[in-house]
Parts: sequence; structure tokens; C-alpha cells
Amino acid sequence: MTVGQWGIRVPAKDGEGTRQALLREGALDVMLKVLHEGNDLVFAVTAKRDGAARYEFEEQPGRKELPRHELVGGIAIMQENDPNGAALILASRPSLHTVLFPTSEVSGEYRTRDYIVLAGKETTRTEVVEHGHRFVVDLAGAYFSARLSTERQRILGQVKDGETVLDMFAGVGPFAISLAARAGVVVAADLNFQAVRLMMENIRKNRATNVIPVLADARHLEKIFPWKFDRIVMNLPLSGTEFLTEAFRLVRPGGTIHFYSLVSKEGEHLDRIRELGGAGVTVTEREVRSYSPGQWHAVYDIIAG
Ligand code: SAM
Repeated sequence: MTVGQWGIRVPAKDGEGTRQALLREGALDVMLKVLHEGNDLVFAVTAKRDGAARYEFEEQPGRKELPRHELVGGIAIMQENDPNGAALILASRPSLHTVLFPTSEVSGEYRTRDYIVLAGKETTRTEVVEHGHRFVVDLAGAYFSARLSTERQRILGQVKDGETVLDMFAGVGPFAISLAARAGVVVAADLNFQAVRLMMENIRKNRATNVIPVLADARHLEKIFPWKFDRIVMNLPLSGTEFLTEAFRLVRPGGTIHFYSLVSKEGEHLDRIRELGGAGVTVTEREVRSYSPGQWHAVYDIIAG
């Protein structure tokens, strides 16, 4: 069966160079076979462009399965460094503009990672729509995970009108801006300048007039805001335990701390939380998502005594 599509005709000797360039740009329609016309090759492209004309192409057999990837707004993140697969993914959805491959683990204080662009636009920046909010993210510049959207809604469901909320590790602001819909005021801190800059953009975009962005180390928040908060979100899963003392100082009696942590056994932090919180503290622990064999993200919902 043939399919009508835009095509770029080039001399066969230029074929590989053209194929690579189109692939890199994300413009090659990898669902369709290359046409051989005399001494020329015709590459199918996903959209009309200079020099393109309409041709009939044969479909590639067995290319419908897409390689594994995760979507963040208009960006797909692949698990393999596979430019052909990236072009397939890019062509599969009009909403996608870029396919990335991570070249490092999530690392450092800012919890960011490095990427290379496998296909599409040279960018790590995109916009994510989540439960009616729009978040601008830059995956190389500041942490963002779409996998926590259910958690944000769960916590929003607990926020009472007018609460004073603190997000100690706010990133680009997804928790802070989501919770601002019910809270009186949300203080949102991060020590990554790029994260705070994106958060300010997101505050404006979502018209969240009650979020205070703060470029600060969570260790200093007590001095900057000598307040007692009704609710504190702590999403720094690898080293959040170091900040539990600060969180207990900043929460009001009866207030709530949502403490996220990467754990490898049930009840891992219960003793520490009870030691810091004293006799009146109550705590429930729940698995949020699995991370690796034997490790998972847990959330401890803590009510200060
Ligand atoms: N809460 C955000 C979210 O869900 O997208 C971001 C969570 S990310 C796992 C942790 C964030 O904490 C990063 O943006 C990082 O820059 C920030 N961070 C790390 N250490 C910090 C510190 N001592 N004080 C304030 N922010 C810190």
C-alpha cells in the first residue's frame, strides 16, 4: 500500500547526509520507505518545506511499535540513545517538538541531569499542562517530575482554606502553585536560581498571586520567615532527612509535614520522626512509586504534636 506524503528529492550521493540532517531535525517521516527514482532518492518528510513535492511512498514494515519513552509536555525522553527510534516517536504525535536522551543520572544539589537532543528542536524547555495548571520546565536546568501530579492533587485535597504553606524544595513550583488554589499564602523556596526563575514565570502564567518565591537554602528559612506554617511539603527524597529538624521548627503544633523519601524498608524513618516530633506526633507512611528493585519513594504524612 502506498501513502501520499511530502518528499525531498536529492542525488543518491547526497542521500546519507540528507537522511542524517532530516533525522536530526525530526523532519524525516520514518514510517515511510525511501523512494528510488533514477539516480535520485526521495525522503519522506513529516511536513511541507522548501523544495518538497508530493510523492507516493510505501509504508515501512513493522515500524509501528515505538521505543520506550516518557513524556514531559512536548518532550519525549528515551531510555536508549536511538536516533531512528527518536524520529519515530517525534513523528508519532504532533504535540511533540523534541526527543531527548539523558547522558547522566539525576545528580547534584539541584537534582538535574544532562541530555542530548536526538530529534526535533534543540531545547530542553517545554510546557506541561497538569490539572488545569501550565508549568514551564527546563529539564536540564531544574528538576521536574510529572509523576508526582497525583500527589499534588492528594495534598491539595487536604489543604484548608487560608492555610499558610511552605514548600521547602519547590523546584519550578508545581506543588506550591497547585496548593495555592486553596492556601492563603505559599512560601516556595529553592536554592537553584534557574528553578526559581522558572517558578516566577509559572507563578505569573498561572496568576498565583499568593505564592512567594524565595531563592534560599532551606536551612536558612527559619531566619527569613520566623513563622509557624500550617503545612510543609518536603520533596527532596535523597537527603530530606537532614532537614526534618528545620521542618519541625517551622510547623505549628497540629500542622502537617508531607515528607518524601527514597527508602528501602518499611518504617525506615519512623524512629527519627518520632524522636524529633516528640510524644504528640502522629505519622502515617505510604508508598508513592517504586524506584528500583528494593527501593521506593515513600511519603510520611506527619502531624506535629
Ligand atoms: N518540589 C519540586 C517538584 O516536585 O518538582 C522539586 C523537587 S526536587 C526533587 C528538589 C529541589 O530541591 C530541587 O529543585 C533542588 O534545587 C532543591 N534543593 C536542594 N537542596 C536544597 C536546599 N538545601 N534548600 C532549598 N532547595 C534545595
